Amino acid sequence: MRTQLLYSRLLLSALMLGGLLSGCSDEEDSAPAVTSGAQAQAEAHPVHWSYEGDTSPQHWGELEEDFKTCELGKEQSPINIKPSEATINKKLHPVEVKYSPSEVSLVNNGHTVQVSVKGTGNTLTLEGKTYTLKQFHFHLPSEHEVDGKHAEMELHFVHQSEDGKLAVLGVLIKGGAENKELNKLWSRLPQKESKDPTVIDGTFDLKALLPADLHSYRYHGSLTTPPCSEGVQWTVLQQPITWSEEQIGAFRHLFPHDNRPVQPLESRTLEKEG
Ligand SMILES: [Zn+2]
Repeated sequence: MRTQLLYSRLLLSALMLGGLLSGCSDEEDSAPAVTSGAQAQAEAHPVHWSYEGDTSPQHWGELEEDFKTCELGKEQSPINIKPSEATINKKLHPVEVKYSPSEVSLVNNGHTVQVSVKGTGNTLTLEGKTYTLKQFHFHLPSEHEVDGKHAEMELHFVHQSEDGKLAVLGVLIKGGAENKELNKLWSRLPQKESKDPTVIDGTFDLKALLPADLHSYRYHGSLTTPPCSEGVQWTVLQQPITWSEEQIGAFRHLFPHDNRPVQPLESRTLEKEG
């Protein structure tokens, strides 16, 4: 029994590293080499999943044994955030985000544009626990809804703690003023799926992708892509950022829609800081 539990934990870690940190199991992975038979197989014969047709989100759970959580999980992401029903938790501390200009590279992995962040200096601290930023990527329209409405896009900053736990910081993106710093990335958008990273010259100011106000919603959720593994700490910022319609359009041109529909809250609580 104990061996089985250990194995399933190892498998979960392997899937998370192989899946979320690189966006898809068929991508190059710079994360520590935690391997399992299942992961090795997934790398050799990646299971195709997508956002439409026979491999769309409602079929993810049937595509592969390891994707069952997508169908059976009870703590799945994204969710519809109802601000008026969020529980105020006065014990929650504001999120601490320490981001600084960093070297980054872009990959079009066929599901999104993923930006890998070099180094270990960018961190998110939640209730005293520190997570290091690994990568960020984009969804169109937003994956989380607020009162049943999508924002035009959503940005996911993916972090991992030393003990392997994942924390994702979600930022909603609305049409409006241009984000000048984003042009450093968007001028080099990889138009075609490829494993070869596009390295951005100089450094990218990560803070330019955060709103001024870091008040947030918090809940326990999952990866929003197969294998939909649970145990992910979600923080969705209440204040959106703006990009110009042209900047949003450039992403839409590559990915007309890459969002998983919202999932039932089940017995979970959505919290916000008091
Ligand atoms: Zn995401």
